[in-house]
Amino acid sequence: MNRLLLLATGGTIAGSADDSATLNDYTAGVLGGDALLAAVPQLQNLATISVEQVANVDSADLLFEHWRALVERIRDAFAADPELAGVVITHGTNTLEETAWLLQLLIDDPRPVVLVGAMRPATALSADGPLNLYQAIQVAVSSAARCQGVLVVMDGQIHGAKAVTKIATQGVSAFASPDSGPLGWVDDAGVHLPSAEAGRPKPLAQIQLPNDWPWVTIVYGCVEPSGDWISALLGAGVQGLVFTGTGAGQLSERERSALRAWDRLLPLMLRSNRCGSGPVYGDADQAQFGLLPASGLNPQKARILLLLALIAGLDQQGLASLCEAA
Ligand code: ASP
Repeated sequence: MNRLLLLATGGTIAGSADDSATLNDYTAGVLGGDALLAAVPQLQNLATISVEQVANVDSADLLFEHWRALVERIRDAFAADPELAGVVITHGTNTLEETAWLLQLLIDDPRPVVLVGAMRPATALSADGPLNLYQAIQVAVSSAARCQGVLVVMDGQIHGAKAVTKIATQGVSAFASPDSGPLGWVDDAGVHLPSAEAGRPKPLAQIQLPNDWPWVTIVYGCVEPSGDWISALLGAGVQGLVFTGTGAGQLSERERSALRAWDRLLPLMLRSNRCGSGPVYGDADQAQFGLLPASGLNPQKARILLLLALIAGLDQQGLASLCEAA
């Protein structure tokens, strides 16, 4: 029998409402990981699963210390147990893609790490959590899922950590991989992963995460953005900035003036976009401010890359190489 580790962090999959017809007014992170497993007795045919509760929160309330605990626990579990088939993480859907991407950058093991959530609380009529969990575990014990990077399983689809994003506030089909599409799907016949991911470099896989993380924030582009906000961030010592530029990641003249007016060393900066899909390429702001394109990452994932670059002590050139490798 396959052995799996389930790390529970909360979210709607562990959420509870007073009424089974209630889909939105509920408390996330109520049920423990044990209760989620107990609700799916069919899992006993798939694997022997040990459960650990890393947190039990709405994923908007996850902290860097939870991320550190997840990374350390997964690294230790893989190192300590060569027979462990894989790791499954139950997670709130709101920031699930961020945790998936963080783990993709920091875990270096061929065995599957699979994140799963639910759009309906565990108490709901037609709750999607039990089937999502069952399918995530199908994927985690499948040899087809080895060497595929960190995976997200929702609504029968299997997504890669880099491309996946939450695209809807309601409904069970709330995840997509806009640029590439899902890597595959899972159903009664098993796990289908036709577009296997090529081996990728993992330059950050050995870094140790600190107690205190650098300060990196996201600046959102819009009509009449506030240059003062950028000046205030620079004055307050922000260490990294991710611009969510308009269109193909374009900054406005107000934002550029704020950067130009800053006469000290600029923090490490990345440029993503607010369109939801499509690449961002280098432009004149790269030469002028060292503002690097974020390698097709959405702003929240670009922020994670920048956080880790700072933790690893990389300079602008190092960040540029990291973006190319990502
Ligand atoms: N608020 C929830 C969370 O992200 C939403 C969900 O899990 O669907 O934790």
